[in-house]
Amino acid sequence: MAYILSVFAVRNLLVLSLALNVSLILRVLLLHDSQDGSFNGFFFAEQKEEALATKITRLSSSVAPSSSLTMAQGDEDRVINLDHGDPTMYESYWQKKGDETTVVIPGWQFMSYFSDATRLCWFLEPEFAKQIVRLHNVVGNAVTENRHIVVGTGSTQLFQAALYALSPCAEAEPISVVSAAPYYSSYPLITDCLKSRLYKWAGDARSFSKNGPYIELVTSPNNPDGFARRSVVNGSEGILIHDLAYYWPQYTPISSPANYDLMLFTVSKSTGHAGMRIGWALVKDEDVARKMTKYIEINTIGVSKDSQVRAAKVLKVISDNSEGPNEGDSFFEFSYRVMAKRWKQLREAVQQSGLFSVSDFPPQLCMFLNRVFEPQPAFAWIKCEGDIEDCESFLRGKKILTRGGKHFGVSPKYVRISMLDRDKNYETFVRRLSTIRS
Ligand code: PMP
Repeated sequence: MAYILSVFAVRNLLVLSLALNVSLILRVLLLHDSQDGSFNGFFFAEQKEEALATKITRLSSSVAPSSSLTMAQGDEDRVINLDHGDPTMYESYWQKKGDETTVVIPGWQFMSYFSDATRLCWFLEPEFAKQIVRLHNVVGNAVTENRHIVVGTGSTQLFQAALYALSPCAEAEPISVVSAAPYYSSYPLITDCLKSRLYKWAGDARSFSKNGPYIELVTSPNNPDGFARRSVVNGSEGILIHDLAYYWPQYTPISSPANYDLMLFTVSKSTGHAGMRIGWALVKDEDVARKMTKYIEINTIGVSKDSQVRAAKVLKVISDNSEGPNEGDSFFEFSYRVMAKRWKQLREAVQQSGLFSVSDFPPQLCMFLNRVFEPQPAFAWIKCEGDIEDCESFLRGKKILTRGGKHFGVSPKYVRISMLDRDKNYETFVRRLSTIRS
């Protein structure tokens, strides 16, 4: 009897251990797949050929910063993914701020679709609107008087709302949408995604010469190359969208308040809260603001109130700290210092390697920080010198994932590199770059 029991117990143990192992393997596979799927929404399906390297990096750098995969691999041969502009650099600041930006929302709150039915943008939370105006006034980077605010699920949604609102609906042909190369790689993809009969991507604004109306996207400072920009097409029927995602003092001197008809901003690059999916548009023309609001109503019936309330809190803390006695510890001081350090490290690494080049930027006075400095963009636009024709592939060979020039409408000798990753990844990247010889 005792013999039967002990055999039975050993058997049970074996079956149990087998079940545990199978479930562990399944969990690892499922985790892997779900992370892969979540990134498909980033528009870069064409990069399938680097799937394996990217999958490793997605696990190690973007999703699970302290995963065992990162720990197990030495820094020397770890894949570093600086393709996306994921602003994880800012986490450490907000972590230090502790509960200052914590928001608690009771289950019964923010249940209605409506925020303020009397407003033009009826799904805009009044407190968020108030903090947007306040922050622009504190920083001095945009005129808010006589402007309508339209909130969006990221400025990505507002860009689409703007295309919808600005396209003439009586034209036989879709209106041309252009931007000077190198342009933000998502513009062509978003514009042509639904093959609209209202608007159509028409490429580099510098070579656009068609008569009639057109929409020009002016991104300033520009993604990918960081330069301040103005419109370049010389037509009389141009309609401009100013994408000012990076017109904040950690990236560029704030010389004067931007004063354009349609300006787009986002928390993704200003405060680093890309996951909130919140952007806002400052719109001069009431009809345009109304149409943009209509688009968002049709598209998503408004914008998450929870996110708007959280964004309002973050903006409030930034304004409070920028004006208060702890100014030295303010968000923009912190982020300015990190960017300054990173750009110094990058320039040193580029010089040590000798294989690459980056642009210099003219210094200017920042009215907000009250100091003269050179722009320190959110992306480095790096050129491979000599006979390296495909810089993205070359760097992929060194296990550095970047986005090549062809995505931005220019030569593959260029790559864009995110400067906004976590310290550990950035440090590994500059160290590796400095040692690349050929
Ligand atoms: N415009 C530019 C120029 C950007 O670089 C980005 C983000 N990469 C966006 C818009 C999109 O921002 P959001 O996360 O608010 O959709």
